[in-house]
Amino acid sequence: MKRRERESSTIISSPGVHAIMNRSEENEREIARLKSYDPNFSKVLFLDFVSSIYNKFYTWYGTKDFKNLSPFFSNTEIQSSIHLLNKRIVNEIVIGSIKISEINNLETVTGISVDIEANYTINIQDKKTRYEVVERWYFNRKAGVLSSEPEKMRKLSCPNCGAPGNFTDNGECQSCGTLINKGEMQWFVKKHKILKQEVFITKGLAHYEQERGTNLPTIFQPNFSEISARFAQKHNFDWNSWRLNFSSNIATNYFLKIYAAWSTNKLEDVRNLLSDRIYESFMFWINTYKKAGVTNKLEEIKISNIQAVRIDIDKYYESITVRIFASALDYVEDSSGNIEGGSKNNARFFSEYWTFIRRNGVEKDTYNLSTCPNCGAPADKMGQAGICEYCNTKISNGDFSWVLAIITQDEVYAG
Ligand SMILES: [Zn+2]
Ligand SMILES: [Zn+2]
Repeated sequence: MKRRERESSTIISSPGVHAIMNRSEENEREIARLKSYDPNFSKVLFLDFVSSIYNKFYTWYGTKDFKNLSPFFSNTEIQSSIHLLNKRIVNEIVIGSIKISEINNLETVTGISVDIEANYTINIQDKKTRYEVVERWYFNRKAGVLSSEPEKMRKLSCPNCGAPGNFTDNGECQSCGTLINKGEMQWFVKKHKILKQEVFITKGLAHYEQERGTNLPTIFQPNFSEISARFAQKHNFDWNSWRLNFSSNIATNYFLKIYAAWSTNKLEDVRNLLSDRIYESFMFWINTYKKAGVTNKLEEIKISNIQAVRIDIDKYYESITVRIFASALDYVEDSSGNIEGGSKNNARFFSEYWTFIRRNGVEKDTYNLSTCPNCGAPADKMGQAGICEYCNTKISNGDFSWVLAIITQDEVYAG
């Protein structure tokens, strides 16, 4: 799809597959080291934490609410916002992708740097400008600290009592009175830098580039066969039959249903299958197309192959990544049916890496995609937040069944 190619074109550099794999193996080793002294560490939850910090940082930038971030940012970062108080407002923040670029397990401190692709609108006086950016954020935590449980990682909350983040200027929780020293109970942002910032333009929305990554070799997780065997053993099933079942009942069905919803601008039909981040990013693109008076359609989608490439298991979540090879009639048309880009006649071949997550212990491998995996009612009232109105439970965290968490284009996938 056009939309995501555009996103991936913002990638900083494109090292060869070998360099990517070396980097990915090194990160793998460092995550394993981190988990050896912090068994609670969950990449899924850490990235949720990053996304909520990122969002609040820009939402509160230059406002008095920024003080609520005091336990989570270095003094230098805090100062830079204070002097912009009331001068600059940032809104409509959409995160396209987040990935860990480096992990450092040092003697006294653990450091994780994260690359974030996003876009947002900056308002200075009355002038609004929308930017697309790539930023690198550096998170630090005192070595040896245990990660908080999911509830405290998901929202910006007090790492001591769990109350919603409400802090004084010097970082004291207004609920429990605890002074939260930076990095002693939770990650904090040491610094962030903008690697790339461009004014966002919608002019080229209907322009199709040649697919670049479809023929690239698949990047498998190092030792994937051992890891998948361990995963099978943990669940007491045969890996090959589980994999085939996952491919047809989960990956294929999700892929077809999600792209059907995308093509008809009806994301509410699949809200129960999407994580919040994916949903927000999809909504942003659908609205961008709408504003430009066009729709992106994918028709006659055919999946030719699905390869399982990666499994991650931590204390709370398990995730599986598959590479999906497919073809579709992929085009952009305006409201009177004129084709502005792509083709209604010639199928386009592409591949994407899809990552699904679910909470440990929920093992319904076949279920109805149209019902709430918690209460069984129709999944027609999930709202924007992915909360089922019948049982009032949040579904989009993957706590009851698989949700699609990440889509990565083949030319940027790095393991
Ligand atoms: Zn507290
Ligand atoms: Zn429900």
